[in-house]
Amino acid sequence: MKIIDAHTHVDYITPEFQSGVDGCICCTTIEAEWNKLVEIMNNDNRVYGAFGVHPWFVDTSKSDFDVRLKNLLERNSNYMIGEIGLDKYKPNMEKQIDFFIKQFNLAVQLKRPMFLHCVGAWDKILHIFKQYKDLPIIVLHAFNGNENVLNNLLKYQKMYFSFDKNAVYDRNQRIHQIPLNKILIESDGKKDVNLIKIIDEISKIKNESNMVDIIYDNTQRILKNG
Ligand SMILES: [Zn+2]
Repeated sequence: MKIIDAHTHVDYITPEFQSGVDGCICCTTIEAEWNKLVEIMNNDNRVYGAFGVHPWFVDTSKSDFDVRLKNLLERNSNYMIGEIGLDKYKPNMEKQIDFFIKQFNLAVQLKRPMFLHCVGAWDKILHIFKQYKDLPIIVLHAFNGNENVLNNLLKYQKMYFSFDKNAVYDRNQRIHQIPLNKILIESDGKKDVNLIKIIDEISKIKNESNMVDIIYDNTQRILKNG
């Protein structure tokens, strides 16, 4: 089966992963993981990498981290950016914004797909989006925004949404409102996730039997930066 996990983490690259899926997009959370991910990618061509500093861990890097990130990205045209974002319920909002904007700028400047985490900060994120004329591919992971936020996001052509096991509990019916060509699936590095089950749930919600192929094609567009 053609299944690619669109959002996982460095520690999840285990033998279970290798028997379960055909590929994964692996996001770093701290700078110290960058080299580890490069090594994993060099040993397994089914692992695609997104590099960055997660909003929960902005305290682990100095504010000039973006110089090193830019250097790494410029040397590797297939490297993406993630996991980056803003989280209202975590400390250091000012530093979070500084880190997010630096990484967002790099993604725009180098035209790289980016993987976003946003909790309770949609007003800030949408405001930042509006400052740019052209946005590269953006994948919103574990999307939790309201209908108004979703409508704003869907105006952007290269916006994608990756769903984790909570897709099953899509009480707000966001999946109903998201076009088929914008849906991805993810484990977020959680070991008990069954990606096939998530696809089944989405197939039922969308009343679409060909969901495996559709999600695979969507993921391929991101990997080809198309
Ligand atoms: Zn994540």
